[in-house]
Amino acid sequence: MSSGTDTTPRVALVTGTSSGIGASVVEHFCKQGFQVLAVDFNEAGEKIASDQGAAFYQADLTDPQACKNAVKEAIKRFGRVDILVNNAGIQHVSNIESFPEEKWQAIMNLMLTAPFLLTQAVWPSMRENGWGRIINIASIHAHVASPGKAAYVTAKHGLIGMTKTAALEGGEQGITANAVCPAYVQTPLVENQIADQAKMHKMDEQEVIEKIMLKDAAIKRLIEPAEVAQLVCYLASDAAGSVTGSSFNIDLGWTAH
Ligand code: NAD
Repeated sequence: MSSGTDTTPRVALVTGTSSGIGASVVEHFCKQGFQVLAVDFNEAGEKIASDQGAAFYQADLTDPQACKNAVKEAIKRFGRVDILVNNAGIQHVSNIESFPEEKWQAIMNLMLTAPFLLTQAVWPSMRENGWGRIINIASIHAHVASPGKAAYVTAKHGLIGMTKTAALEGGEQGITANAVCPAYVQTPLVENQIADQAKMHKMDEQEVIEKIMLKDAAIKRLIEPAEVAQLVCYLASDAAGSVTGSSFNIDLGWTAH
């Protein structure tokens, strides 16, 4: 797809692209003909990106300078950034009483500060072009809490606040900002959590899936990364030009209670 009335392909910067949702977003964007800079600290992302025709930039996004450098790299390669997908994330499951401070800090740096710094760094390019899409991969935990996830829940709730603020500031500049809020998606992040939750709740892994992860879901299955990526594609499109400041649940009916 092209940028506005000209034929230049859209340029997207996507974070957390070495697996799961981010890898699927890169695949879907490349299929649409976008120029994509995939950013991840895991060097496995290099092959995953190049197999799809995307460029790769290795960066640990808990480092503020690395966030700024990633945007510089996108602009150096492609001359602009039209779409930013803040997706990189981690999880740590532990009760507040024993939650390690360094894990709290790492989650805040990666899942709240990095999206802010990346948004700030891509903003001038989007403003100059009068068109931009900021898509924040939040979570259903941006709206509800679960025990053991203090840092994750706090960061995701905060990300909704930043999304709304960006939407209000971007409205007159052609920049939209929206959040996507999935329930449990079949990715390594969730697979690791199943084991952690099993330990915490003294259950076996199947019980964790049935009694915790899918307990409140109307549809009793995990979500596929491609289902999330397709919602991201809609939000990145011209068709979503009037959608901003919103948060889209893709949650198997979890929050319909
Ligand atoms: P994932 O573990 O499959 O992928 C996360 C990616 O982030 C990986 O490629 C990892 O290398 C990268 N990453 C981690 N730390 C990084 C760092 N410091 N710098 C750069 N990259 C880093 O996870 P996923 O499930 O695809 O999650 C993607 C996003 O979706 C996250 O923000 C997560 O919170 C959110 N989410 C996931 C689920 C789910 O059930 N899987 C549900 C709701 C929201």
